Amino acid sequence: ARARYTNRRPASAALHQKALEVLPGGNTRSVLSYGPFPTAMERGEDCRVWDLDGQEYLDLCGEYTAGLFGHSEPRIHDALHAVLRRGTNLAAVGAGEERLARLLCGRFPSLQQVRFTNSGTEANLMALTVARAFTGRGTTLVFRGGYHGGVLTFPLTGSSMATLPLPFVLADYNDSEDAAAVARAHAGDLAAIIVEPMQGSGGCIPATPEFLASLRALADETGALLIFDEVMTSRMSAGGMQARLGITPELTTLGKYIAGGMSFGAFGGRADIMALLAEKLPHAGTFNNNVLSMAAGGVAMGEIFTADVAEALYQRGEKLRGRLNAVGTAAGLPLCFTGIGSMMTVHFRQPAPRRGYAATPGEEALRELFFLDMLEAGIYLARRGMVALSLPVGEAEMDRFVDTVTEFAESRRPLLL
Ligand code: PMP
Repeated sequence: ARARYTNRRPASAALHQKALEVLPGGNTRSVLSYGPFPTAMERGEDCRVWDLDGQEYLDLCGEYTAGLFGHSEPRIHDALHAVLRRGTNLAAVGAGEERLARLLCGRFPSLQQVRFTNSGTEANLMALTVARAFTGRGTTLVFRGGYHGGVLTFPLTGSSMATLPLPFVLADYNDSEDAAAVARAHAGDLAAIIVEPMQGSGGCIPATPEFLASLRALADETGALLIFDEVMTSRMSAGGMQARLGITPELTTLGKYIAGGMSFGAFGGRADIMALLAEKLPHAGTFNNNVLSMAAGGVAMGEIFTADVAEALYQRGEKLRGRLNAVGTAAGLPLCFTGIGSMMTVHFRQPAPRRGYAATPGEEALRELFFLDMLEAGIYLARRGMVALSLPVGEAEMDRFVDTVTEFAESRRPLLL
């Protein structure tokens, strides 16, 4: 399968060779670094993309959730063209940021005020900084397998976090007792508890509602601020997972699709906490209010991704995941998809994992094979086996994916058993 991959992609291979000279590893984005070389894309249209060698794929990667609107949503394109005509670097506040801020505060229950950044990583760094400044404490409780950005990646095993910018203590995800024990041991210095309502990069592992409720109680008990990292999960309803669960954190971070596919991050929450930013906590950033993101975000959240559209997408994803899981069950194979709504990740084990795990070499090999077989069938998803549905993905595309996974289960049965 690997030889076939290489033979079909001479243009991607050649680009990788050149890129190695000027980009470490030939890349500027870790998630797109995989052997023997990544497939380079040239263009996209609705839910389809074409690689440098002209091959077409159904795009189920959905830009790791940032590509919610597909590649050619006309209302977003119109908004961007209008901005380009007016100029992109005005060095001033504008109406776009007020509009987008108001839209977000109107949707997410925890958001009374919000600030914009250029990425989810920055949003999390700022939210943690705010929590430290507000509480006058230093430490943050995080969870094994959690991902909050390029410099905020947390190990599944052990506790070495020497590379991290701030002091963290680790507990097991979906383990309320462990979280409570670690939090209480550091209660006097605990500024924040930061958690993904579903670990996205960690394998689309949902938190149980009980676990998140226990973190809410733990934050109240210790005086730490609860931060929901909804960079990926905010798509699960108009008001994100927090609205779905009825659990309100002090602070929330956002990113990905919210600016209609432009660079984006945001952090926000209770007004008395966010007030720090108006007083003594600096938060600068040349592109924080860049007009492309602000304008596209206003249209994306104000006109396209309405509450009804969000709910319909969630239901489509639930149905698709059910069908995919039926494939593994019917075949009696260790093949399952975890996730919530329109996000899901394949796992080659049964029962479905409840927290992150170190994949065995066998599982790693199957993950690669799955990725390569899907590409061969013209389906593009994340190398780690994650799918994020975009709005243009319809019934026919989902049928095609289910059929392709069924074929995979049949043709690779001996390897899966
Ligand atoms: N938090 C979560 C939960 C994420 O999934 C990501 C990105 N995958 C980030 C934060 C970081 O966002 P960005 O890549 O925009 O920095």
